[in-house]
Amino acid sequence: MSESRTERTDVTDVPHLTDRTGAAESLAERAAALDAADELAERRKLFTLDDDSVYLDGNSLGALPRHVPERIQDVISRQWGELRIRSWTEGGWWTAPERIGDRIAPLVGAGPGQIVVGDSTSVNVFKAVVAAVRLLDPAEPARDEILVDATTFPTDGYIARSAARMTGRPIVPLDPENLLGALGPRTAVVLVNHVDFRTGRLHDLPGITAAAHEAGALVVWDLCHSAGALPVGLDAHGVDLAVGCTYKYLNGGPGSPAFLYVAERHQARFDSPLPGWNAHTDPFAMAQDFAPADGAVRGRVGTPDILSMLALEASLDVWEGVRVEAVRAKSLALTDFFLECVEAYAPPGRVRSVTPAAHAERGSQVALRCAEAPAVMETLIARGVIGDLRRPDLLRFGFTPLYVGFADAERAARVLAEVLTEVPAGPPA
Ligand SMILES: *Cc1c(COP(=O)(O)O)cnc(C)c1O
Repeated sequence: MSESRTERTDVTDVPHLTDRTGAAESLAERAAALDAADELAERRKLFTLDDDSVYLDGNSLGALPRHVPERIQDVISRQWGELRIRSWTEGGWWTAPERIGDRIAPLVGAGPGQIVVGDSTSVNVFKAVVAAVRLLDPAEPARDEILVDATTFPTDGYIARSAARMTGRPIVPLDPENLLGALGPRTAVVLVNHVDFRTGRLHDLPGITAAAHEAGALVVWDLCHSAGALPVGLDAHGVDLAVGCTYKYLNGGPGSPAFLYVAERHQARFDSPLPGWNAHTDPFAMAQDFAPADGAVRGRVGTPDILSMLALEASLDVWEGVRVEAVRAKSLALTDFFLECVEAYAPPGRVRSVTPAAHAERGSQVALRCAEAPAVMETLIARGVIGDLRRPDLLRFGFTPLYVGFADAERAARVLAEVLTEVPAGPPA
């Protein structure tokens, strides 16, 4: 990854911050200038948002694109209500998982035909981990270990452990910081998160993938916190398998189906542990014997969840004409600016960022450690700054560049400082 740590040289433009009021004026002015120069600023109008609040939880549930309700109304009233069963064929329902996969593909650097949408991320982690084990099997029986990011979103670890038990493999939980040293001749599969959901740390996808391949292993990447937030480069970096969710930075709606990426070179041998009839080469033959479809379609399971799936498809329109590189540039500028505002406004010693300062190690969120995090987040939300609490002591703020601006970042930091002033500091830990 070529991005380097950005020294905040632009701070020199700011008159020295001697008093709070002066700081607020100059940072608010800078925010206005940054918003005025932002090529993505207009995208916010595509979303249903109110100006009374600052929405910094799009890394948990993306905001609603304005046009989605009307499109879903059509899916329900016309496609379901009038066309009924014909919609499966004439309305394109049947092919939605792969069609929508191809729309997500450019956002994560994948060529067509390698992504299917369906099921939850948890289910796709299961498919991917078991399929990865089977890709290596039985050629290398001594290569048995499944390495899993122990700091990860817990579902990935729960599922990986079950997959390990089912396939009779040992699981090796580890901190991704120690991953490279743990790779060896016994490593079969590595499951790792691209961005840590708690700290916002971005892991080195190109480096870890290359090192795992060097060691003879396969890697499954979880892109829940990077898809739609930063360039992923699945094809360019030779990723084997990946999963990701669509209701965070991709704004697909609550519980919208996840996606599964199977690199083209693995597709012919991809052996799904959940080979439902949708993965059959000729599903309507209703044959008793399973014969897998070609391509990523064999990652499908059963009948797709059409309402959620088509809400996701509609929501993806907001990406039309958006360069992921521009999203990344804005995301880094936003998180830099937010951190700068927090530093300028917040009472000293009350919050500390656990999100890496280095751009190459930062996703699209900022997590602040704060001893009074539960009370602080509750008050913040009551004042219209919507972040979330990750127990016990993290204030988490997600920056979604399609609809969050610099004025939002400044306001969130200003309100945070007010709240910190009001919520008494506990005894030192
Ligand atoms: C959000 C998230 C999930 C969510 O999984 P679901 O099956 O959709 O509930 C899984 N893994 C990671 C890393 C996540 O961030």
